[in-house]
Amino acid sequence: MESARSNNFRIRLSEGIFYSNFYNIKISITTKLWDGIYPFNSRIHSLKQVHGERIIEVKKGSLFKKEGDGFFTSDKGVVLEVKTADCFPVFISDKNLIMLLHVGWRGAKKGIVEKGIKIFQERGNIKDARVFLGPGIKKCCYEIKEDVAKFFEEFIEKRDKKIYLDLEKFIIDKFLNAGLKKENIFSFPHCTSCRNDLFYSHRKGDRGRIRAWILKE
Ligand SMILES: [Zn+2]
Repeated sequence: MESARSNNFRIRLSEGIFYSNFYNIKISITTKLWDGIYPFNSRIHSLKQVHGERIIEVKKGSLFKKEGDGFFTSDKGVVLEVKTADCFPVFISDKNLIMLLHVGWRGAKKGIVEKGIKIFQERGNIKDARVFLGPGIKKCCYEIKEDVAKFFEEFIEKRDKKIYLDLEKFIIDKFLNAGLKKENIFSFPHCTSCRNDLFYSHRKGDRGRIRAWILKE
């Protein structure tokens, strides 16, 4: 797949990076085909990711490498970066505010998605927001054990005596419950494990990471 589109979203693959634009927001997601050349002039802001629920506000020009799994800004020219390999990079944006979350089961259990939504309700316009789920591991491959399954009762599937987690649905449901329209939520078509040729997957033994970037211009 080189491109895909739904009503409000379009993605295209170029030079090993998937791009999507909406409003004046640019979203980029690297694949294994990426040659490592960074495509923006603006400086990257990244986090020391710890599978938690902390979300930090970023101002243009602020230098930091803080611990957290999400951040947001209303400033132009600030690139937010999350690194993943099976966890979901979750982009949320309205016309003014951009937010990027790193969501695996641990962060989801701790409530990072709800926390992101709450910040958006206070600082942005959640009803007009668009949500873009980057590539993560889907229910086809996300096998978990009872110890994790007990936190996600409505979102597990049992097949061949194994338990699978639908973390994608868990995340999308949170946004639907917050009043977002279905057509304003886009979910990447590929699973990182099924499409390990294209994406890094921790469970497939990869050490590399997908880079997810969001920028307001
Ligand atoms: Zn899969």
